[in-house]
Amino acid sequence: MTNKPTPSRQPLTVELQALDSAHFLHPFTDHQGLAAKGARIITRADGVHVWDSEGHQILDAMSGLWCVNAGYGRRELAEAAYRQMLELPYYNSFFQTTTEPAVRLAARLSELAPPVGGRRFSHVFFSSSGSESNDTNVRLVRRYWDLMGQPRRKVIISRINAYHGSTMAGASLGGMSGMHAQGDLPLPDITHIQQPYWYGLSQPGESRDDFGLRAARWLEDKILEVGPERVGAFIAEPVQGAGGVIIPPDSYWPEVQRIVDQYGILLIADEVICGFGRLGHWFGYEKFGIRPDLVTFAKGVTSGYQPLGGTLINERIAQVMVEKGGEFTHGYTYSGHPVACAVALANLDILEREDLPGRVRNDTGPYLAQRFGELAEHPLVGIAESCGFVAGLALVQDKASRKPFAPELGVGMLCRNHCFNNGLVMRAVGDRMIVAPPLIMDREQIDQMIALIRLALDRTLADLRERGVAIGA
Ligand SMILES: *Cc1c(COP(=O)(O)O)cnc(C)c1O
Repeated sequence: MTNKPTPSRQPLTVELQALDSAHFLHPFTDHQGLAAKGARIITRADGVHVWDSEGHQILDAMSGLWCVNAGYGRRELAEAAYRQMLELPYYNSFFQTTTEPAVRLAARLSELAPPVGGRRFSHVFFSSSGSESNDTNVRLVRRYWDLMGQPRRKVIISRINAYHGSTMAGASLGGMSGMHAQGDLPLPDITHIQQPYWYGLSQPGESRDDFGLRAARWLEDKILEVGPERVGAFIAEPVQGAGGVIIPPDSYWPEVQRIVDQYGILLIADEVICGFGRLGHWFGYEKFGIRPDLVTFAKGVTSGYQPLGGTLINERIAQVMVEKGGEFTHGYTYSGHPVACAVALANLDILEREDLPGRVRNDTGPYLAQRFGELAEHPLVGIAESCGFVAGLALVQDKASRKPFAPELGVGMLCRNHCFNNGLVMRAVGDRMIVAPPLIMDREQIDQMIALIRLALDRTLADLRERGVAIGA
């Protein structure tokens, strides 16, 4: 993996960068900054690697955007799409019609998702993304409570630094202050509590479990503040992803479950990242033993090969929707898109055949935990932890006091740039550095990834010393 700076760029790179900068408004991008250096053009991929237009090989420790669970270069997914496109490239399911891939996928997901409290996830509502699915969830929660004769239960409680997508409802449910600041969000009747981030928010000497209970009770405080008769649902990712891979203490979820049960409010598990093997189980709710009413999925359901999302709907809600609801006036042109569903079915075949959830749970996940945990010895790293195949570490100025770096130093971005230049995709969320590798990553590749992270940490440390930043003070 030699990524020496190339003296002159390839003609294709030059051409595409100019067109990109002139015409493509990128998601979540500062365009002044991008224009100055030019976007990196990714041209192909295989296994756990991607290549750019300059021929550099890059280890993709983020699975694209947390989605390429089965890894790149899976011919059978391409073939499933090709076959379906020739047979039936599109048809909708609005007007009393349906298509075989959508039916089979709904049935298979319903089968795959273990029942909770003896109740099955009997139905699935399809969309094309996680954002749309969470919009659907807002509609479902409101409709459900209307049908139950409790129309005042409109408030949805979420968490700071949650990520639930980028549409108006998705960004409102999410707890990203930068997103709320643009567009007068959140929408009414969506409110947030603090995240269960033990390393960043616990009191000196407070154990993980004590903190977990305290963090869960912020939900109860908020329910009481809003008025229990007005709260419709609580939405949360089992492990917060884009918020920096925030792994809750073991005590957190059981207490949250007690609280939602006590007040009779719905629980939405947003498993867009946690689902499909990412935490070593088919669904994150299995790992934490929680009983959601709605489960948001997207990303890993197709390993990103096709855009597809949806909501698994527990019988508790589905029964009411089906038996009392009449027409649910909601849907997307691409709900249950046959090509996306055919690819999802083929992707589930791969996850099942290669037992990728089991491999993460019993083999590569524990190995990643061990190797990633060793990074905590580095002078810049305050904590390094993982859960299945998501992992995060905190860069701090002083380990003993957990003192963070001044934000204007941009230490996370500095480290991320070193990763990128060394041939590794690792993401920075503030000063937390995170990975979510493809579930096919083996032990040797984990070793390579850890070596590249270590190299980036060393280079970041050298930069900071050069700038005269005192480490450990
Ligand atoms: C990515 C993500 C979403 C949004 O999904 P899109 O397909 O980008 O709309 C929602 N929730 C979580 C937890 C996510 O990670």
